[in-house]
Amino acid sequence: MPSIIYGGVTYMQVRHAVQCKKCLDTVESKEIHDFKQCSCGAVGVDGGLEDGNRILGDFADIDDRSVYCAKSRGKTVWLPPLRNPCQKPMT
Ligand SMILES: [Zn+2]
Repeated sequence: MPSIIYGGVTYMQVRHAVQCKKCLDTVESKEIHDFKQCSCGAVGVDGGLEDGNRILGDFADIDDRSVYCAKSRGKTVWLPPLRNPCQKPMT
């Protein structure tokens, strides 16, 4: 499973998804042969949560919506951090 290291913690990828900046579709690939393309065709995702999964399209059109997760001291931490509705928005 793809992972990244951030702040010394290894995060496993749990969602492989992008949003297209042109048509604003969000597409998610869930399996290795699950190729998804946005409705305007500018961006796509493939490979699910397997190593070597891919994002297709022009970097300028892509808004990465992938989510990563790590277990740290018994807590589950998310990357990017999930927005907590109880917290005041950061300014
Ligand atoms: Zn699109």
